[in-house]
Amino acid sequence: MIPAPFGLLAELTHRCPLACPYCSNPLALEPRADELDTGAWADVFRQAARLGALQVHLSGGEPGARRDLRDITAAAHAAGLYTNLITSGIGMDVGRLRGLKDVGLDHVQLSVQDTQAESADRIAGYAGAHARKLALAGAITEAGLALTVNAVIHRANIERLAEMVALAASLGADRVEIAHAQYYGWALRNRDALMPTRAQVQAAMTTLDRLRAEYEGQLVIDAVIPDYYARRPKPCMGGWARRSLNVTPSGRVLPCHAAETIPALEFWSVRDHSLAEIWLHSPAFNAFRGEDWMREPCRSCTHRHEDFGGCRCQALALAGHATEADPACALSPHHAAMAEMAERASESGVSDYVYRGR
Ligand code: SF4
Repeated sequence: MIPAPFGLLAELTHRCPLACPYCSNPLALEPRADELDTGAWADVFRQAARLGALQVHLSGGEPGARRDLRDITAAAHAAGLYTNLITSGIGMDVGRLRGLKDVGLDHVQLSVQDTQAESADRIAGYAGAHARKLALAGAITEAGLALTVNAVIHRANIERLAEMVALAASLGADRVEIAHAQYYGWALRNRDALMPTRAQVQAAMTTLDRLRAEYEGQLVIDAVIPDYYARRPKPCMGGWARRSLNVTPSGRVLPCHAAETIPALEFWSVRDHSLAEIWLHSPAFNAFRGEDWMREPCRSCTHRHEDFGGCRCQALALAGHATEADPACALSPHHAAMAEMAERASESGVSDYVYRGR
């Protein structure tokens, strides 16, 4: 029995004014001309709600690049979905934000690159970005919207973890997500410049324990050990095709936003199939659903119901096949090589980023 999806990630556009070196957009962006129009998105939201989804993340690129963001948000709300806007803050302003709140926006997730403006703007590849984000954060809470601050952590900012959490608290956030850069796609190209050292990661984990106690009852701090220094993998996406689906700007439906890095998969589009057909029957969703695809050591492992073998994209990128155990797992024969690769990258001395389109 295939369960209903819990949530939908709607990539409204791949356009984005920022050029973060860990960008999760695919290397080949879908052009604006191919983007689904307002009515098509409204239909996707209604179908998702009928399938059982409860929430939608309006994402990108930068969703603020869509002029019809207010109508799209209204459609998501009308479909009965809890609506979360995932934004860089660039391309949004107070007036637009209030308009979104008026049509039913529930929550905003705002990305922050660092606590120091100069470093934050360098990471974002956009002068003045940090100041604009802080201004928008004030407007978000003033509008009565719930705020989560998302901070991607890497070698250049990991030592300001405590300042990052303090910044989120001062902005009135309810939650801060400490997300380590994920090394596929664009971040893989910047791995030598982004990878923290083992010592930095260990210090950060100790700091997190202290911060969780310090901010208990005030701020929820979400964080995990980065894969390259972990001994167990994350339950990536809560398991392949178990909880969520991801619709790209042109309507292709993916089990996770990085799934297109697995070249053998066949993705169906909402232009050709209903969302229910795609969820239940499309080749990409069924490729790694359940456990039949697993090889050893996952196949007979007692942890397979908890972590689902980890990340399929990372398995392909680092172990050579998407059906391998995620090399973040200490039981993977590729785990030691992954850890060595992390040590080498972290000590590479590279500090310049490769920015998209520059
Ligand atoms: S062997 Fe597979 S199922 Fe077991 S802990 Fe490792 S990744 Fe998870």
